[in-house]
Amino acid sequence: MLKKIEHIGIAVKDLEASNKLFEALFGKEHYKIETVESEGVRTSFFELGESKIELLEAIDDDSPIAKFVEKRGEGIHHIAYDVEDIKAEVRRLKDEGFDILNETPKRGADNKWVVFLHPKSTNGVLVELCQEMDETEGKLVSPENS
Ligand code: ZN
Repeated sequence: MLKKIEHIGIAVKDLEASNKLFEALFGKEHYKIETVESEGVRTSFFELGESKIELLEAIDDDSPIAKFVEKRGEGIHHIAYDVEDIKAEVRRLKDEGFDILNETPKRGADNKWVVFLHPKSTNGVLVELCQEMDETEGKLVSPENS
Protein backbone atom coordinates (compact mmCIF):
# COMPACT_ATOMS: atom_id res chain seq x y z
CA MET A 1 0.00 0.00 0.00
CA LEU A 2 1.20 3.49 -0.78
CA LYS A 3 0.85 5.60 2.36
CA LYS A 4 0.96 9.23 1.24
CA ILE A 5 2.54 11.62 -1.21
CA GLU A 6 6.05 12.00 0.17
CA HIS A 7 7.13 14.60 -2.34
CA ILE A 8 6.58 15.98 -5.82
CA GLY A 9 9.65 16.28 -8.02
CA ILE A 10 9.93 19.31 -10.28
CA ALA A 11 12.56 19.49 -13.02
CA VAL A 12 14.22 22.91 -13.27
CA LYS A 13 16.94 24.44 -15.42
CA ASP A 14 18.62 26.57 -12.77
CA LEU A 15 18.43 25.41 -9.17
CA GLU A 16 19.55 28.73 -7.67
CA ALA A 17 16.96 30.72 -9.58
CA SER A 18 14.24 28.17 -8.80
CA ASN A 19 15.17 28.08 -5.12
CA LYS A 20 14.52 31.82 -4.98
CA LEU A 21 11.26 31.44 -6.89
CA PHE A 22 9.94 28.65 -4.65
CA GLU A 23 11.13 30.42 -1.50
CA ALA A 24 9.03 33.39 -2.58
CA LEU A 25 6.08 31.11 -3.40
CA PHE A 26 6.14 29.08 -0.19
CA GLY A 27 7.29 31.83 2.15
CA LYS A 28 9.99 29.57 3.53
CA GLU A 29 13.47 28.39 2.67
CA HIS A 30 14.61 25.01 1.37
CA TYR A 31 16.02 22.78 4.09
CA LYS A 32 18.66 21.01 2.08
CA ILE A 33 20.56 20.80 -1.17
CA GLU A 34 21.89 17.40 -2.12
CA THR A 35 23.69 16.07 -5.16
CA VAL A 36 22.95 12.51 -6.27
CA GLU A 37 25.88 11.75 -8.57
CA SER A 38 24.48 8.39 -9.70
CA GLU A 39 21.34 10.11 -11.04
CA GLY A 40 23.17 13.12 -12.42
CA VAL A 41 21.11 15.57 -10.38
CA ARG A 42 21.37 18.31 -7.81
CA THR A 43 18.27 18.52 -5.67
CA SER A 44 16.76 20.97 -3.28
CA PHE A 45 14.00 20.17 -0.78
CA PHE A 46 11.20 22.23 0.72
CA GLU A 47 8.99 20.92 3.50
CA LEU A 48 5.29 21.76 3.35
CA GLY A 49 3.42 20.08 6.17
CA GLU A 50 3.34 16.34 5.51
CA SER A 51 4.72 16.61 1.99
CA LYS A 52 7.80 17.98 0.32
CA ILE A 53 8.75 19.56 -2.95
CA GLU A 54 11.96 18.36 -4.58
CA LEU A 55 13.56 20.57 -7.23
CA LEU A 56 15.85 18.70 -9.63
CA GLU A 57 18.57 20.22 -11.77
CA ALA A 58 20.72 18.18 -14.18
CA ILE A 59 24.44 18.18 -13.46
CA ASP A 60 25.38 16.68 -16.82
CA ASP A 61 23.88 16.25 -20.28
CA ASP A 62 23.29 12.51 -19.79
CA SER A 63 21.14 13.07 -16.74
CA PRO A 64 17.52 11.92 -17.09
CA ILE A 65 16.58 15.43 -15.92
CA ALA A 66 18.54 17.01 -18.79
CA LYS A 67 16.66 14.80 -21.24
CA PHE A 68 13.32 15.53 -19.60
CA VAL A 69 13.84 19.31 -19.69
CA GLU A 70 15.03 19.15 -23.29
CA LYS A 71 11.96 17.17 -24.38
CA ARG A 72 9.22 18.63 -22.21
CA GLY A 73 10.60 21.75 -20.59
CA GLU A 74 10.60 22.49 -16.88
CA GLY A 75 7.75 21.06 -14.84
CA ILE A 76 6.47 18.18 -12.73
CA HIS A 77 8.83 15.26 -13.22
CA HIS A 78 7.57 12.65 -10.74
CA ILE A 79 5.33 11.98 -7.78
CA ALA A 80 6.89 10.09 -4.89
CA TYR A 81 4.87 7.93 -2.51
CA ASP A 82 5.94 6.86 0.92
CA VAL A 83 5.97 3.08 1.54
CA GLU A 84 6.73 0.98 4.59
CA ASP A 85 8.28 -2.03 2.87
CA ILE A 86 9.66 -1.11 -0.53
CA LYS A 87 10.57 -4.66 -1.54
CA ALA A 88 7.08 -5.94 -0.72
CA GLU A 89 5.59 -3.08 -2.76
CA VAL A 90 7.83 -3.91 -5.72
CA ARG A 91 6.56 -7.51 -5.63
CA ARG A 92 2.95 -6.40 -5.30
CA LEU A 93 3.14 -3.85 -8.12
CA LYS A 94 4.98 -6.29 -10.37
CA ASP A 95 2.14 -8.78 -9.83
CA GLU A 96 -0.30 -6.01 -10.72
CA GLY A 97 1.51 -5.64 -14.04
CA PHE A 98 3.33 -2.35 -13.53
CA ASP A 99 6.61 -1.77 -15.33
CA ILE A 100 9.26 -1.40 -12.61
CA LEU A 101 12.36 0.50 -13.76
CA ASN A 102 14.68 -0.71 -10.98
CA GLU A 103 13.52 -3.71 -8.97
CA THR A 104 16.44 -3.34 -6.61
CA PRO A 105 15.96 -0.22 -4.49
CA LYS A 106 18.68 2.38 -4.96
CA ARG A 107 19.85 5.26 -2.82
CA GLY A 108 17.89 8.40 -3.57
CA ALA A 109 18.13 11.90 -2.18
CA ASP A 110 17.06 12.83 1.34
CA ASN A 111 17.95 9.53 2.98
CA LYS A 112 15.60 7.29 1.02
CA TRP A 113 15.58 3.98 -0.76
CA VAL A 114 13.86 4.54 -4.08
CA VAL A 115 12.26 2.54 -6.89
CA PHE A 116 10.78 4.04 -10.06
CA LEU A 117 7.83 2.84 -12.14
CA HIS A 118 7.87 3.50 -15.87
CA PRO A 119 5.45 6.31 -16.76
CA LYS A 120 4.07 4.26 -19.64
CA SER A 121 2.42 1.95 -17.09
CA THR A 122 1.13 4.82 -14.92
CA ASN A 123 -0.72 7.14 -17.31
CA GLY A 124 2.35 9.14 -18.19
CA VAL A 125 3.41 10.10 -14.67
CA LEU A 126 6.74 8.82 -13.39
CA VAL A 127 6.11 7.20 -10.00
CA GLU A 128 8.73 6.99 -7.28
CA LEU A 129 8.33 4.71 -4.28
CA CYS A 130 10.42 5.73 -1.32
CA GLN A 131 11.23 4.21 2.00
CA GLU A 132 13.01 6.13 4.71
CA MET A 133 16.47 4.71 5.44
CA ASP A 134 16.95 3.73 9.01
CA GLU A 135 19.27 6.44 10.33
CA THR A 136 21.00 4.22 12.86
CA GLU A 137 21.49 1.01 10.95
CA GLY A 138 20.32 1.95 7.45
CA LYS A 139 23.79 2.20 6.05
CA LEU A 140 24.35 -1.42 7.02
CA VAL A 141 20.92 -2.94 6.56
CA SER A 142 19.97 -2.12 3.01
CA PRO A 143 17.04 -3.61 1.10
CA GLU A 144 19.66 -4.35 -1.54
CA ASN A 145 21.03 -7.17 0.58
CA SER A 146 18.11 -8.28 2.71
ZN1 ZN B 1 11.99 12.28 -5.86
